[in-house]
Amino acid sequence: MTSTVPPRTTREWQAADAAHFLHPFTDFQSLAKKGSRIITKADNIYLTDSDGHRILDAMSGLWCVNVGYGQQALIDAATRQLKELPFYNAFFQTATPPAIELAELLSEVTPPQFSRVFFSGSGSEGNDTVVRMVRRYWDILGHPQRSVIISRNNAYHGSTMAGASLGGMSGMHAQGGLPIPGIEHIEQPYWFANGGDLGRDEFGRVAAGWLEQKILAVGPDKVAAFIGEPVQGAGGVIVPPDTYWPEIQRICDKYGVLLVSDEVICGFGRTGHWFGCERFGTRPDLMTFAKGVTSGYVPLGGVMVGDRIAKVLIEQGGEFEHGYTYSGHPVSCAVALANIRLIQELKLVERVRDDTGPYLAQVYTQLADHPLVAEAQTCGLMGALLLARRDAKGGRARPFAPEVGIGMVCRGHCFANGLIMRAVGDRMIIAPPLVMTRAQIDEMAALIRRCLDLTLADCH
Ligand code: PLP
Repeated sequence: MTSTVPPRTTREWQAADAAHFLHPFTDFQSLAKKGSRIITKADNIYLTDSDGHRILDAMSGLWCVNVGYGQQALIDAATRQLKELPFYNAFFQTATPPAIELAELLSEVTPPQFSRVFFSGSGSEGNDTVVRMVRRYWDILGHPQRSVIISRNNAYHGSTMAGASLGGMSGMHAQGGLPIPGIEHIEQPYWFANGGDLGRDEFGRVAAGWLEQKILAVGPDKVAAFIGEPVQGAGGVIVPPDTYWPEIQRICDKYGVLLVSDEVICGFGRTGHWFGCERFGTRPDLMTFAKGVTSGYVPLGGVMVGDRIAKVLIEQGGEFEHGYTYSGHPVSCAVALANIRLIQELKLVERVRDDTGPYLAQVYTQLADHPLVAEAQTCGLMGALLLARRDAKGGRARPFAPEVGIGMVCRGHCFANGLIMRAVGDRMIIAPPLVMTRAQIDEMAALIRRCLDLTLADCH
C-alpha cells in the first residue's frame, strides 16, 4: 500500500503555497502571513489536515460533496473511464457513452419539463451559457430587444464575467468593470434584514413584487429572464418565505419572462428534494447545476433546458455558437452517473426530506436559544445562525459592530475545534454532506455550541 503521509511538513507546504499559489477569493498577503491549512485526506464527513487533526466538514467541501468523501463507486467509475476513454469532445458531431447516458439520467431525475441538457465545466460556465441561451432564444423568436436579465442583490451565480454580473455581490462588481450590460438587480428576500414590521408571508409577497416593479421599469418587452437561487447559499443561506417563489412564478408567467433556477447549491438533494425549485413550487425554464452532480469528485456543470426553449433552439436556431472543451467530459459524466445512482440507492433525498432535514431543524431550534444567536434557519441540510448581541435570554438582538468581525471570530474557534463552518458577515452557515447521520448531527451541534460559547466569551 502506498503511504498517505504527506512528503512535506506543514511549514514546507505553506511556504510553497505562499510562493506560488494564488487562491480564489483571498487576500494573498494576509494568507501568506498566516499560512494555509493544508487538507491531506478525507473520509465520510471528516477531513484530515497535514498536522493529523480530524475536522468535521459541515460545508461539504464547498457545498458539493453530497455523498461524502471516499465513495468507492465514484472512484471506480472514474478509474474505469480513465482507462477506457479519458477524453473526447462533443463538438463536430461526436459524443461519448457516459455523456449520453448522463443526459438521459438527468432528464429522469429533473422535473418533467426538462429532457435536454447543455454541459459545462462549472456553475459559472453554466450561467454564462444561460445568458447566451436566453438571449439567443428571444433573438430566434424575433425579439432581440428582450435581452435584460434580472437577478438579485447578494445573489451568487459564479465568478466569470457573466456569472459575477448576474450575481449581486457589490465587492465583485467593484473589480473588473462589472456588471456587463443588460443585467439588472432587485433586493433579496431576506426577511430578517429587510422585512421591517411585515410578517414573513406578507414580506415574501412584497419582495416578489419588486420583480414586477423592475420588469415595468425596464419595460416588459425588454426583459428576457429572471434568475435566482431557490435558497441563496453564498449570500448566507437565506431561506425565502414560502410565499416568495410562487409569486415570482406568477409574475414571470404574466410577463412571459423566462424563469431560471440556479440549482448549483440546491440541486441533487440539498433541500430534501431533488431540486430546490421542487421544494419552493416553481416550474423553471432553465436550471443551472454543478457541484452536487458529481459530489465535487471531478468538475462538471451544465444547464437543463426546458422543452419550450429546446424546441425553438433545435427547430429554428441553426448552430448555437457556444461550447466548452470539457462540455460532456467523459470522466466527469461517468462520475456523475455513479454519483446520481448512489444518491438514488442510498435514498439520500428522501432521508434529508423525512429524517435528517427535520432533525437538523429541531437541533437548530435548540441552538436558537443560545445568547449569541438572533436567528436560526434551516432548509433540508443547510443552515444559518445569525450572530447578534442579546441583552438577556429572549431579549431583543442588536447587531455587532462590523469591526468586531463576529463571524470571523466564530469561524476561528470552529477552525481550532475541528469544525468547518463558513462565516458570511454575521451569519454562520453549514451545508454538510447528505450522508450525515442523526448521531453526526448531534456531534456537529455540540461542536457548534462549544464554538458559540467561546465566541461569546471573547465578545464580553
Ligand atoms: N451558482 C451558485 C448558486 C453557486 O453557489 C456557485 C458557486 O458557489 C456558482 C453558481 C458557481 O459555480 P462554480 O464555482 O462551479 O463556477
